[in-house]
This record gives sequence, structure tokens and C-alpha cells, in this order.
Amino acid sequence: MPELPEVEQVKKTLAPYIEGKIIKNVEVRLAHLIQYPAVDLFVKKLKGRMIQTINRRGKYLLLQLDKGVLIVHLRMTGALLATRNSAEPPYAKIKFSLTDNIVMWFTDIRAFGTLYYVDDDFVVKGLAALGPEPLTKGLSLEYLFPLVTKSKKAIKTFILDQNVIAGLGNIYADEALAEAGIAPLRLACDVTRKELAVLIKAINKVIAQGIKNHGTTFRDYKDGEGKKGNNQNFLAVYGRGGQPCKKCGAILNKIKVGGRGTVYCPKCQK
Ligand SMILES: [Zn+2]
Repeated sequence: MPELPEVEQVKKTLAPYIEGKIIKNVEVRLAHLIQYPAVDLFVKKLKGRMIQTINRRGKYLLLQLDKGVLIVHLRMTGALLATRNSAEPPYAKIKFSLTDNIVMWFTDIRAFGTLYYVDDDFVVKGLAALGPEPLTKGLSLEYLFPLVTKSKKAIKTFILDQNVIAGLGNIYADEALAEAGIAPLRLACDVTRKELAVLIKAINKVIAQGIKNHGTTFRDYKDGEGKKGNNQNFLAVYGRGGQPCKKCGAILNKIKVGGRGTVYCPKCQK
């Protein structure tokens, strides 16, 4: 599932293709992807709109139009990519024909992606409730410590909550906990103020590294030009269950935390 660094990379790679372009036509091949408004209205309202900028908030892509905003969440296997011709990528579900012969495709293997066009007071709840972003001042110890002390969830489950921190998913949560030396099953309320300060630093570090390496491609993730990320070559624990820890050589454990596959070092993470 694309997380903050992957969605950021999609934003960066799409921008030069789509910013300033006008949406000439929209072809929706899988109606349930469109969450708001009804599909026919979605198509009708988008036609003729100009894409001014593309932004990101958490794992959401926000295409600011000259009127309204097109909101895209890639979920499990969604991808938004631009081509300079009409060659169709696999699993194409929505085709946005733009000026200058640009086609922006929404592709999705498992088809859990969600799209919205909002030009009224409709609220996308998940977007409105997002917590602060990593690498911003909002993600501070003063903000996070009171929330941690109240939470009886496992620390991994706690940091995956998008209302607490925007943009973390399974990969970067495992990586951040490894970097911070904190075991994923520790109760959030048992994490000390000092440990939490280390964890915030670790979250910022792994997210910055993910962005620098153009995201992590484990299975399906591709950027706005259909290219894979490079961060999978730099992961400390994610996807490495049963292999030796890069720091101490102990065999990494693979467990489930809140239903999510989780890898950690039993020696380095306490
Ligand atoms: Zn270790």
C-alpha cells in the first residue's frame, strides 16, 4: 500500500505532466471507485476543468482545479500515472484525457481506490480527521505525548492511526520502530517521554529516507511515470522476517500486530 513517501513521489512525478492542463474527457470503467458525487456528475463536472496544482496530505492526492478539488486515495494497489500517448496501462479503471495529448490513468489491480470531486461543502472524513504530517513541526513531543499516555493500543497500532499521524503505513511503521529500538507490541501508554522523542526522530528519518529513495516498491507501487521506487533496498526489517538483523545478527521475528504482518528484532527492540 502506498504510504507517505510513495504518494509524495507520485505527486512529484505527475506534476510536470498535468499541472496547467485541462480535463477534456473522463471515462470511468469501474463505478464504485467514485465515492462522490454520482459517477455521471463526477464526469460532467470534471470536464473542462483546469488542473492548477497537485498536492498531498497524508496518503491523499489533492488535485486543485480552477473550480473544486479532485481527491484520490490509492489504498491498496491504486496508481495514478500520466502518459504522452493513449497506450493503455494494465488494470486501467479511469481515463482522464487532458490537453496536449496527455492521458492520466487511474489503474488498480484490487480496485479498492477511492476518488472524490468536491466543489461544495462535502467532507471527506478520513482527510478532514488526519493528524499532523511527519517532517513538520506539528508532529511534536508536546502533541504526541499526551495521546500516547492515554492509549492502551500497541505502539505500532497507535502510530498507524491516520488521525494520530498522517501518512504512516505498515512499512514505515515497522522501520521507525526498528530505528527507535522499540518493540511493536509495547503498549503505547508504557512508552516513556524520552523514548517517544526518539521515535518521532525515527519516524522523520525513515520517511525522509523513503522520499529520498523515491518510495518503496515491494509489490505493486509505481510512481506517476510508472517507475518503481528504490527504498526496498534500504529497509532494516520490513519484509525481512527470518533473516538476520543488520545491527546485531539476531533472527528477525515476524508476528501479527493488530492484524498486520510485523517484523522486528527481539534483541534490538525492547
Ligand atoms: Zn538486532
